[in-house]
Amino acid sequence: MNIPHKDKARPLAIQVFSIEKNALIEVARAVKSDEEWKKILSPETFAVARQKGTERPFCGPLNFEKRTGVFRCACCGNDLFVSRAKFDSGTGWPSFIEPVHKNNVRYEKDYSFMMIRTEVLCAVCDAHLGHVFDDGPPPTGKRYCMNSASLVFVPLPNLEKILEK
Ligand SMILES: [Zn+2]
Repeated sequence: MNIPHKDKARPLAIQVFSIEKNALIEVARAVKSDEEWKKILSPETFAVARQKGTERPFCGPLNFEKRTGVFRCACCGNDLFVSRAKFDSGTGWPSFIEPVHKNNVRYEKDYSFMMIRTEVLCAVCDAHLGHVFDDGPPPTGKRYCMNSASLVFVPLPNLEKILEK
């Protein structure tokens, strides 16, 4: 397996929060080559999540998703956002005030397009999810601007009950 050099220092197993278990669980990081990802992902998800693409605004199917549930990583299934953290940012991309848990995502500085932005990635498989900005609503003030192609929505009507436990 071809693991990029900077990845070698990172642990192969990490702790992430599982909605289903309502607890931190240890999972193995999903490390695959582009060829392997290409075989299991849709062309849209591969282009956005594995090649840092951005879908056109107002086109992603999850922009208007308003049901109760969890938004998981389209590549590895890691829980990323819950419906109550979603808000209508008017940007045309699904937007959230915070991730499920700080462990479930990671960040990298992105210097592309002559801007300094903070890229948000899945902590388990390094999928490109989108960017986070400081102009979100309270209480966090953050706007996680995500691509629908990097997420899958799973309706979970009893989500609040699970998180209450
Ligand atoms: Zn992932």
